[in-house]
Amino acid sequence: MNNIAKTKIIATIGPSSWDDSLLRKMFESGMLLARINASFADYNELERVSKQIRNISPRIATILDTQGTKIRVRGLSKDVVIKDTVTLTSEDISDPNVIKITYPSLDRDVIVGTKILLDDGNIQLQVREIRDKMVICNVLQDGILKPNKTVNIPDINLNFPAVTEKDKQDIEYAKKLNFDFVCASFTRNRKDIQEVKSILEGSNTKVIAKIENKQGVLNFDEILEESDAIMIARGDLGVELDLEEVPILQKQIIYKCRMAGKPVIVATQMLESMKTNKRPTRAEVSDVANAVMDGADCMMLSAETSTGNYPLESVQMMNRIALRTEGIMKFSPVYGDTDAGSETDRFGISVCKLSEEIHYNAILIISDSTSVVGSVSRHRTSIPIYVVSSSLKNIRENTLYRGVTTYYIKELSDDRDRNILIAVEKIYGSGKLDLLDKIAIISGSSIKNKKTDSILEIATVKDILNS
Ligand code: PEP
Repeated sequence: MNNIAKTKIIATIGPSSWDDSLLRKMFESGMLLARINASFADYNELERVSKQIRNISPRIATILDTQGTKIRVRGLSKDVVIKDTVTLTSEDISDPNVIKITYPSLDRDVIVGTKILLDDGNIQLQVREIRDKMVICNVLQDGILKPNKTVNIPDINLNFPAVTEKDKQDIEYAKKLNFDFVCASFTRNRKDIQEVKSILEGSNTKVIAKIENKQGVLNFDEILEESDAIMIARGDLGVELDLEEVPILQKQIIYKCRMAGKPVIVATQMLESMKTNKRPTRAEVSDVANAVMDGADCMMLSAETSTGNYPLESVQMMNRIALRTEGIMKFSPVYGDTDAGSETDRFGISVCKLSEEIHYNAILIISDSTSVVGSVSRHRTSIPIYVVSSSLKNIRENTLYRGVTTYYIKELSDDRDRNILIAVEKIYGSGKLDLLDKIAIISGSSIKNKKTDSILEIATVKDILNS
């Protein structure tokens, strides 16, 4: 695997990418994380695809994305034209002039004036009257409604449980299959994340909070504190909030995540036109490049790789754009109040700053944890960060961090010098280091019983290999 961008690529797996040799090529082209969307996958598929991914490489991290509380139109068998006025209901009635939706308490939760959006915001309604459990709306923007389309009601705090019954079962299944990450959809607050965590108790599966509605944005700081990583889910975010808010939020969220040393994913419509075209639009190329410049850890492909015609080309294109953009980027340390006081964080920023003064060629972290990795990665050094670990689970978790390339060694012993030698032999053997390269090595202390302290040593590859 050569020439893989520092910004990681997540590909959603679906019918377009089920083929074994295609998936392998996608991995070799930069897909280091695979996402399965539980909205469209049954348990057989979850099991089959997660095994397939593990067989291609145990280094690819697996992500299960939950369906969450997505409201949909139900019981519609053909397209209907929505214009002038329309009536919605939660009730199970069979009036062809009334649109039924899956939200259970519509007439109680909306008021006159509430906006309701159908089909990802393509059709816009405003409540005019509520009568006998029927919600009568003026159509502000008309359109043709197809069966099963989405419904968004951004103005109200939806009366949903944190985790639906389907999500609970899916999360339990992900835990059983040892998925690396589970996405908590439509996260509103800290409690929502805590509930997902309680289902995952006893496993190593980590939680990615999807920010995709107003409450998620308002309570972002507590959500960030509670979760392991963040996804900027621009699809729903662009329906729940005004579209022009999305790029601003993208920048703000990425910066906050970097301050906290937690990975952040930019998702949805990044190379959308590649579902049907071999080449993306100029605007899409700019969007990918801007996500890289904003400092995202990962970028996600959705329909491009799950149902699109060019899954491999989409991964290759995203990698190409990221590589080119990263090539002009400079080291950008982040300072801020969040977490900045911790010793690990001070250590992380000092190592990165020193790299600008001493000009070493790489940072090598020997560790079976992720905290030092997050503290170093967030400063977006221009040199690579190599992480050596004896835990495959750890390797996959660290994959989420920008600029981090992971190496597996079977055992990390108490002998620090030996660990360094094995690590450097491995990285040198892969062609990523030269004999005269200087590297900064971060490892655990060699003082007995000093498990939490770290050592920083600057050494030349040749000297380590000759030791
Ligand atoms: C999104 O809304 O951007 C998103 C990633 O969620 P989903 O694809 O599940 O709708």
